[in-house]
Amino acid sequence: MIIDGKKIASDIRAEVAAEAAAMAARGTRPGLAVVLLGDHPASVSYVTAKERACAECGIASFPVRLPADTPQEALLAEIARLNADDRVDGILVQLPLPRGFDEQAVIRAIAPEKDVDGFHPVSLGRLLLGQDTFVPCTPAGIIELLRRSGVETAGRHAVVVGRSNIVGKPMALLLGRKGTDATVTLCHTATTNLADMTRQADILVVAAGHPGTVGAGMVKPGAVVIDVGVNRIPDATRKSGFRLVGDVDYAAVEPVASLITPVPGGVGPMTIAMLLKNTLRAAALRRA
Ligand code: NAP
Repeated sequence: MIIDGKKIASDIRAEVAAEAAAMAARGTRPGLAVVLLGDHPASVSYVTAKERACAECGIASFPVRLPADTPQEALLAEIARLNADDRVDGILVQLPLPRGFDEQAVIRAIAPEKDVDGFHPVSLGRLLLGQDTFVPCTPAGIIELLRRSGVETAGRHAVVVGRSNIVGKPMALLLGRKGTDATVTLCHTATTNLADMTRQADILVVAAGHPGTVGAGMVKPGAVVIDVGVNRIPDATRKSGFRLVGDVDYAAVEPVASLITPVPGGVGPMTIAMLLKNTLRAAALRRA
């Protein structure tokens, strides 16, 4: 069975649109500033998709486009301006930044109450402490996918492959926190015999960034498999010259898993849906 991320994300977007309309009726329009440096094609397409989603849901977007060679001080000044702008509830700086920027310093410059990506140390610290906070959108979206697909997490063994700050680590925290209650194993490149770990998973989340990281022999029959990977591989039959694949060998694993997310159309759409949700939350908290 396939977990239809597109459908679930579209349900969430409809909920966000309804809430945004209710806010508008009370005289408030939530707003998201999207900051893009340079013109890397993947970043441009992510930013465009985020701004289109805002427009569809009644969230105002404030696009900020800066050249890739913008000095870091000028970027920090721009973020300070957005922090002070009352119309802006959320600030998103599209990552990765061009070479030469101190990414962590840029993230730290965002006011924590506008940190809708959930990457600020204050947001991640609160997550670690089990406090209410902005949760990074991709792992938050995966929890929502599991919940809305009726997947039981309590007492199940969840294995996460990848320990990045934006996916793997927060994913492990969310799966193991009170209320979700999975038992979590976090794997990385120094894990010895990855297959031994992944075969123990009732819920397997793969965020490694390499196609084919998980094949059929690495999955327990009946496991729930969440493929976070987005990899462009050359494909001469496509107009674009490439196609997207995940980190999981989908064709081989799909018959073994009880539920699986496709790429594209699984986790990807959820990331934007959760960004919209976080923006609404920021607006509700700031303007309460
Ligand atoms: P990242 O920062 O490159 O981290 C990859 C992690 O995977 C690292 O912790 C690395 O271990 C681990 N890893 C890599 N190869 C491995 C292997 N063979 N065995 C075990 N662990 C391995 O990547 P990321 O930002 O987390 O993103 C991961 C993937 O998800 C990428 O394809 C990215 O495009 C995709 N992504 C998708 C969305 C979405 O919305 N769908 C959002 C974010 C990311 P070490 O720490 O030991 O190096």
